[in-house]
Amino acid sequence: MAVAVEAQGNLLRLAGYSGHDVPEDDLLRACVHCGMCLPSCPTYRLTGQEMSSPRGRLWLMKSVADGRLDLLDPIFDEQMYQCLNCRACEAVCPSGVHYGPLVEAARSQLEQHRPRPFWQRAVRGLAMGWLFGETKRLRALVGGLRFYQRTRLDRAVRRTGVLRLLRMEELEAMLPPVARRALVPGRERWTADDGGRSVRLFNGCVMGTVFADTNRAAARVVARNGAAVDLPVGQQCCGALHVHAGMMDEARTLARRNIDAFEASGDDPVVVTAAGCGAALKEYGYLLKDDPDYADRGARFSARVRDVTEYLAEGDLVPPPRAVRRTVTYQEPCHLVHAQRISTQPRKLLRAVRGLTLIEMKESSLCCGSAGVYNLIRKEMADDLGDRKARHAIETTATEVITANPGCAMQLRASLGRNGSTAHVRHVVELLDEAYGGPRTKPAVGGESRR
Ligand code: SF4
Ligand code: SF4
Repeated sequence: MAVAVEAQGNLLRLAGYSGHDVPEDDLLRACVHCGMCLPSCPTYRLTGQEMSSPRGRLWLMKSVADGRLDLLDPIFDEQMYQCLNCRACEAVCPSGVHYGPLVEAARSQLEQHRPRPFWQRAVRGLAMGWLFGETKRLRALVGGLRFYQRTRLDRAVRRTGVLRLLRMEELEAMLPPVARRALVPGRERWTADDGGRSVRLFNGCVMGTVFADTNRAAARVVARNGAAVDLPVGQQCCGALHVHAGMMDEARTLARRNIDAFEASGDDPVVVTAAGCGAALKEYGYLLKDDPDYADRGARFSARVRDVTEYLAEGDLVPPPRAVRRTVTYQEPCHLVHAQRISTQPRKLLRAVRGLTLIEMKESSLCCGSAGVYNLIRKEMADDLGDRKARHAIETTATEVITANPGCAMQLRASLGRNGSTAHVRHVVELLDEAYGGPRTKPAVGGESRR
């Protein structure tokens, strides 16, 4: 492992790290070890171990930087990937430690230098690089899933017990009924009732396919509030999954393609329905900061990005005419509340719906355990967090759990089902759409079992 220290611009390349995407020294040094982040950290709360806390992980990153710990030490690897990258620590840190980019750079270092078996590299390359690298491919795969569900092949397969054998039962339990039609950029647009405004909808990969009806609900609600909506052609996955997995080159390729697609469509706000995508899109400026062709363009693009709840709450919401007499609770996606600091806006929108009773659950902003693909690769801890979240939701007696991110929605669906709840899981905009009289779609996700 290299131990030389070299200056490169204003970025100090640190001993122990090499190659691209090195945890930045000034971000690491911002931590004053006060420990105020510890109670907010889900992994610290579950394990009670200092090493599994933000402060402990920052100490490990610094130790590698200073050459006191080998980058390939198993403890370093374990802790960088045990972290959920939920960024709850960032939101409470009095020193403003920008934790997200640090853990992402540390993972990138591991991806660059850690030897991996061939099959692991092949699976990652196929899933993350090939499948998520081109939206058309994901649409084709989701088309297959739609066929699997609609022909009831899923029930037949379940009866054979093969899913249990392959340990895929839980994975299937997360999957909601796939939308009848994918939303394809350029094929659908929504005109505003009045007003001359317009916005561009970021479609995303999972949102534009599995949750396409949620995106359509968002478009109807935005149009009802005075802005025409269309989807620029050429847009791709946001790259959030790649950033979280330390696959920064793949994330940058996707970011450049999205910037090209949205620049061609003017300066209108870019509205996003997935908290994870929104957080990633708002950080394109940082992701591309060393790219002379895209650094400024990335920052300009990021400044246009709004979560759909943020966008709608900025103005005076047109009062929804229909009452929705139901009790709901709200689960805060980490990448909305911690990474984007959006917390009051979704609640403001929910309170605008007549007849709706909102009961707050305990620990609404504690991670549900989804965290990208964390619930697939770190099942035990993800299940603990999911069960905790489900218990809090059940305590409220709500018949719907409202959220704003597809990963949370799928994790909640599986966790509620596992804990015996039949509560549905829906996006904020689906509820609003119903209150505006939009099609009463079957809840896109729900704790109800399909068995
Ligand atoms: S990350 Fe922030 S809150 Fe946590 S120990 Fe460091 S300075 Fe304190
Ligand atoms: S990102 Fe979340 S899990 Fe990771 S250290 Fe911070 S609070 Fe803990």
